[in-house]
Amino acid sequence: MQAMQVRSDFPILTKTIYKKYPLVYLDNAATTQKPRQVVEAMTEEYYNVNANVHRGVHFLSQQATELHEGSRETVRKFLNAQSTGEIVFTRGTTESINLVAQCFSDAFMKEGDEVIVSEMEHHSNIVSWQLQQQRKGIKLRVIPITDDGQLRLDEYEKLFNDRTRIVSVTHVSNVLGTINPVKDIIRIAHEHGVPVLIDGAQSTPHMKVDVRELDCDFFAFSGHKIYGPTGIGVLYGKEQLLEKLPPYMGGGEMIKNVSFERTTFNALPFKFEAGTPDYVASTGLARALDYVSNIGLDAIEAHERDLTAYAMQRMAEIEGMKIYGPADVNIHDAVISFQVGNIHHLDMGTLLDRLGIAVRTGHHCAEPLMRRLGIKGTCRASFALYNTREEVDALVAGIQRVKQMF
Ligand code: PLP
Repeated sequence: MQAMQVRSDFPILTKTIYKKYPLVYLDNAATTQKPRQVVEAMTEEYYNVNANVHRGVHFLSQQATELHEGSRETVRKFLNAQSTGEIVFTRGTTESINLVAQCFSDAFMKEGDEVIVSEMEHHSNIVSWQLQQQRKGIKLRVIPITDDGQLRLDEYEKLFNDRTRIVSVTHVSNVLGTINPVKDIIRIAHEHGVPVLIDGAQSTPHMKVDVRELDCDFFAFSGHKIYGPTGIGVLYGKEQLLEKLPPYMGGGEMIKNVSFERTTFNALPFKFEAGTPDYVASTGLARALDYVSNIGLDAIEAHERDLTAYAMQRMAEIEGMKIYGPADVNIHDAVISFQVGNIHHLDMGTLLDRLGIAVRTGHHCAEPLMRRLGIKGTCRASFALYNTREEVDALVAGIQRVKQMF
């Protein structure tokens, strides 16, 4: 894959920052930039199709419904789910996880029952369960990590007992870049008869995901992290499990019949989609998935792995550089959290910005992980399919320059 060839699809990448520096956008783990194909498809729908979906008899409504349900089929294919009934549109990973935490615990968990999460989770996969802890008295058990940021599978196995009801872990850490052995995690959980939710926010943009091959029970991801629009995401769930969960929110779309005495609910996936869906965003998401599928996730993964290896090697040349997460690039995705000497991460991020280099600083919504690492935050560079070695060089030169200032 040639990153230079795809860059012209992303108009924002030609921007000049502070009227001086070409934009070096390395904050892709927070959100990715959008290709023309996505934005233009959404504009086209607003200009030429727009009408509320489902149940409309008129031309535009039927066309909008076809687009929206066609997008669901695109997502199904992308994840290799069995049916579109297993693809629930949400606002993003956060909402997908909250949906499972609430509905699954309502269906299957009593006071004292346990969910296993890990020490490297994003807050969305911690706090969603803590809300159920407050509502229902469920307990969180936590898989510890090694010093180089890998899950301790030996400790994981010990966490199972007769109160374990679900495992909820991230596929890829948004801080450490660790690619977790989710297949093993799922297999072990299933040996105990326990279902697994995988947070795929940081994996779907970078590697091929096949939910049937993984055999995960739930899988969540966000559109905006995979070149799609904000405000849309996906929850995949195995049909037999989704069938057993109560609805998440009440309203239009999710019902079959309503009376004041008794309401019945719609079939999957609509039971979980109360209210008017963001049908234009679903089009944007589908075009984004087409975009990455056309390039090929294998090619994207190879390009980003090369870039990550190059960046880790070049950054390691900087005196005082500490890179968090595994040293092995085969299990270290396109996210590099770092700290240079005692330069505060906020100072580093702010000064890199003055050179046109966009990185993220802080705790990255993973405060428990920061506590485990004994730090308050890091600087984080994260790559996408359009990033280049030249941009890595710019980052390294930028860090050197900031270092000289201190
Ligand atoms: N999980 C992980 C691993 C993430 O990196 C993020 C976002 O950074 C989320 C969940 C939440 O995603 P969103 O804010 O799109 O709902």
